Amino acid sequence: MQKKAVVLYSGGLDSTTCLAMAADSGFKPYAISFSYGQRHSYELEVAKTNARHMGAAEHLVVDFDLRLMGGSALTADIDVPKQGVGSEIPVTYVPARNTIFLSFALGWAEVLGAFDIFIGVNALDYSGYPDCRPEYIAAFEAMANLATKAGVEGTGGFRIRTPLISMTKAQIIAAGCELGVDYGLTHSCYDPSPEGLSCGQCDSCRLRLKGFAEAGLTDPLPYQSP
Ligand code: ZN
Repeated sequence: MQKKAVVLYSGGLDSTTCLAMAADSGFKPYAISFSYGQRHSYELEVAKTNARHMGAAEHLVVDFDLRLMGGSALTADIDVPKQGVGSEIPVTYVPARNTIFLSFALGWAEVLGAFDIFIGVNALDYSGYPDCRPEYIAAFEAMANLATKAGVEGTGGFRIRTPLISMTKAQIIAAGCELGVDYGLTHSCYDPSPEGLSCGQCDSCRLRLKGFAEAGLTDPLPYQSP
């Protein structure tokens, strides 16, 4: 029987590539997305529309509201920076977000009988988020095996799989294109227009556009005119 894997899927470039990679490495992918009050909720609409098309066997959307806590430009009334990436952890960091996301993914994995969880974190072309680092992922994996019935009873060992962690954005895009990913059906912008057009200026847009340029490819997404 084909092994199941839970894939964190936001509708963005990285997680969509990660979903394709999970399927390509033989897993039956179960996509999980989060409606957490994010400013860029257009991304979630993209995820809902395209999850099956991208190869997900099922798509689960978990709904909670991190705006109750705030503390991030993505969940509070703080401007999304458009001046480029600095050396500090940016205000688009969402407090403990990947721990919250991976915890939901772990719960669903245990219910599904899956032991593999894919997350498209990246430690190279990333925005400086602490919960994208390999040491964080290793710590979560160790915790997952201590925290679950499946882990303790030894029916399997949980693996947090991060196929993108040491790839550049250009390499991710090139690999995704090889796997047939249609990047016109992804979304990256933190601050899109009401119609869903990407801004072209936020950290996420900048990294995406730089990745396409370095891969020698054209981003199929429409952008707002400056
Ligand atoms: Zn943007």
